[in-house]
Amino acid sequence: MSEHYDVIVIGAGPAGYEAAIRCAQLGLNTACIEKDKGKDGEPTLGGTCLNWGCIPSKALLDASHKYVEASQHFAEIGINAPDVSVDVPKMIERKDEVVKGLTGGIKGLFTGNGVTPLYGTGKLLANRQVSFTPHDGAEQILQAEHVILAAGSVPVAIPPAPLDGDRIVDSTGALDFTEVPARLGVIGAGVIGLELGSVWNRLGAEVVVLEALEEFLPMADERIARDAKKILTGQGLDIRLGTRVTGAEVSGDEVVVSYQDKDGDQSLSVDKLIVAVGRRPYTEGLLAPDCGVNLDERGFLYVNDLCQTDAPNVYAVGDVVRGPMLAHKGGEEGVMVAERIAGFKPLVNYDTIPNVIYTHPEIAWVGKTEQQLKADGENYTVGSFPFAASGRALAANDTQGMVKVIADADTDRLLGVHVLGPQASELIAQAVIAMEFDASAEDLGLIMFAHPTLSEAVHEAALGVSGHAIHMINRKKK
Ligand code: FAD
Ligand code: NAD
Repeated sequence: MSEHYDVIVIGAGPAGYEAAIRCAQLGLNTACIEKDKGKDGEPTLGGTCLNWGCIPSKALLDASHKYVEASQHFAEIGINAPDVSVDVPKMIERKDEVVKGLTGGIKGLFTGNGVTPLYGTGKLLANRQVSFTPHDGAEQILQAEHVILAAGSVPVAIPPAPLDGDRIVDSTGALDFTEVPARLGVIGAGVIGLELGSVWNRLGAEVVVLEALEEFLPMADERIARDAKKILTGQGLDIRLGTRVTGAEVSGDEVVVSYQDKDGDQSLSVDKLIVAVGRRPYTEGLLAPDCGVNLDERGFLYVNDLCQTDAPNVYAVGDVVRGPMLAHKGGEEGVMVAERIAGFKPLVNYDTIPNVIYTHPEIAWVGKTEQQLKADGENYTVGSFPFAASGRALAANDTQGMVKVIADADTDRLLGVHVLGPQASELIAQAVIAMEFDASAEDLGLIMFAHPTLSEAVHEAALGVSGHAIHMINRKKK
């Protein structure tokens, strides 16, 4: 006999668990199937984000940033801390405790909201039947009115650098080094490469980042990317663009990486190598051939703007579908689908998804870049404000970077906001809210911001769009 649910969610990452919780809040009898096990070998909820992604990486980024502050910058503000040192096992242990606390928190949220967690592997069959194989039991066939697929993504592997789980690792392995590698290689100068490269660089590793593209961070605004590269290089990240990795061989205690650049064949010896060349949708074992769900040409589950697959009442959300692979994007899709199942009509605004790279300074943006607007032939105006002119940034001894606001030259509507600077991840939220409400640069300039705050830089950059920034000399506007 099959068990019956209103909704079965497959995958308990941010896309899946948020969908499941919202479904249960709306009175739907909901189960969520999750197959992952944590570092301790126990079933765990929270997906990549909580276990192997956003949260553990930020725990290490925050810890390593504090170390840099203490060891390099405290003296500048009159604090002498001569004996600052790093205890890597302790840092990793604390990271694991943060993960454990949060993944346990999702379990509590499931219990509190009435979501049934099912620990094991799920597979979509025809007619919204779901095969569920528990970790320690036989396959069961469940029936659902609605199914939400939230199976997430996994790291892309490249043949020249096969992982060995010790010296050549992916992002998950790079969150668990037991000591600081003296020499670290990173393949890919994307989000993970820069974040995890920064962690180990801050803790003392010599880091070389090999990037295939000639351009650094092409998805970010060009000016911001240029300034960020200069700053990160200054911190010690040796970023080599236009490289093609041809091999990586473990030889004794080191990895010898061969690559080609404009000068020909090169070789690099490192103690550890992180492969961070992107992630791909995880669909292995997820779909029975007759389930009715199709893939798109890039291997993602095919969905429309409402996250509906080709099979009736089967939805897919998060990294397993098109769009940026971001926890908040998946979460929003999950909640949207839950509410639609319950009869409401929300939409996800894909134009206001914030992006953040948690280097220091952080890089954050929402909307269009200047180069995109130029390519589209849009008529736009730019206002910018450097943190070097921000009273709060100066007081905090954290003045690198700028805010850049781009508005439509005719209507003044905000088209993009780009921040390179301290707490850019927090500052960008105000730009997202403004854009969500279709604000103009003038609107942002007319709003009162507390003083002294880093947020004032956003205010000033918005005023700068019309040439009216107060705390800097404005460039003449047409
Ligand atoms: P996932 O979180 O991948 O969850 C999918 C879950 O489904 C997994 O737990 C998997 O075990 C389970 N599953 C898959 N198939 C089955 C099956 N057949 N049966 C049962 N269960 C199944 N994003 C941000 O927004 N901010 C960040 O700072 C950030 N940092 C990151 C740092 C790193 C190192 C990495 C790797 C990623 C980071 N991301 C970040 C990306 C973020 O983790 C993902 O975008 C997010 O986790 C996607 O959520 P999801 O629910 O779609 O998938
Ligand atoms: P990415 O797409 O950000 O970067 C991968 C980089 O590797 C690109 O610059 C690409 O040109 C390069 N590359 C690809 N193949 C290569 C090769 N053979 N040799 C050298 N370089 C190569 O991917 P990622 O850094 O692996 O991260 C995966 C996803 O996880 C990201 O797309 C992002 O959405 C998500 N993520 C987000 C955050 C965040 O929001 N702060 C943090 C980490 C990860």
